[in-house]
Amino acid sequence: MGLAVIGHPIGHSLSPEMHNAALAELARTDPRFAGWRYHAFDIEPDRLPAALDLMRDHGFRGVNLTVPHKVLAVSLVSLLDPGALEAGAVNTLLLEGPGWRGFNTDGYGVAAGILEELGISLQGTPVVILGAGGAARGVAVECLRAGCAGLWVQNRTRTNLDSLLAHLAPLARGIAVRGIEAGRPPEGLPAGAVVINATSAGLRPADPAPADLTAFGRVAGVYDTIYNPPQTRLLAQARQLGIPCANGLGMLVHQGAKALEIWTGVPAPRTAPVMRAAAAKALGY
Ligand code: NDP
Repeated sequence: MGLAVIGHPIGHSLSPEMHNAALAELARTDPRFAGWRYHAFDIEPDRLPAALDLMRDHGFRGVNLTVPHKVLAVSLVSLLDPGALEAGAVNTLLLEGPGWRGFNTDGYGVAAGILEELGISLQGTPVVILGAGGAARGVAVECLRAGCAGLWVQNRTRTNLDSLLAHLAPLARGIAVRGIEAGRPPEGLPAGAVVINATSAGLRPADPAPADLTAFGRVAGVYDTIYNPPQTRLLAQARQLGIPCANGLGMLVHQGAKALEIWTGVPAPRTAPVMRAAAAKALGY
């Protein structure tokens, strides 16, 4: 049975290592999974529709989508899961009959990562999100779905922040969603928030921190969606201030385990540990 991740570029993806490790583990006790393999394909955006048709014709059961395909794929599926509809992005496809059904497991991934590593449930927790790009949108939608106690969003570029706030407004379900004005304290932010970095500031060693954590008062936890490098300036400041913190490896692992659950029916918590070990090994953690 064929599974794959599609991206452009794709060389950096850890998904083949994670999924093939999990499939090999499953095959040890269940012969149904003996022939399952997970591949990686570098596909440019204008070739995505043809690539998905080809994979359907070759009997692929599932596909993960990464940069730059997640939004484009929304228009290519025959059925869209409610979570993917709200996020406006798809990262997992399941072949159902003649077409693909689209899901988004990134939100599950970040919620599971924060719960596992910081012991914080998004439900009832005030959340500060740094960033307003694709990852921030997925995280924000999940926070609202989970019933967070208010959402504060900060971003470098005001127009991108305003676009995200406009996307979130109809999804807020009565939860207060506020933009943070540059250089001003976050209006109404209570103590005990979790701060989630969903910017790309920190991917390179010379990057500045996306925020100064002391601006957010007493913070309960800091989660950086970046996992490579394993420590960013933001996480270094959190450690210095004694705030519980974690990088984004758990998010990566749990979104992958949830995708595998969609394709195999095997509960995500069962395959997450072997996926984490494979990803950590590939990263040299
Ligand atoms: P986008 O390009 O869509 O968005 C980038 C965001 O980062 C924007 O909000 C941008 O602000 C902000 N930004 C970039 N540089 C800086 C800087 N120097 N200072 C402050 N803000 C900055 O990227 P994605 O949303 O797709 O990805 C964002 C991050 O999420 C990446 O680091 C990626 O590694 C991580 N991620 C992790 C995953 C995981 O599984 N752990 C999954 C997906 C993503 P502006 O609007 O001003 O340009």
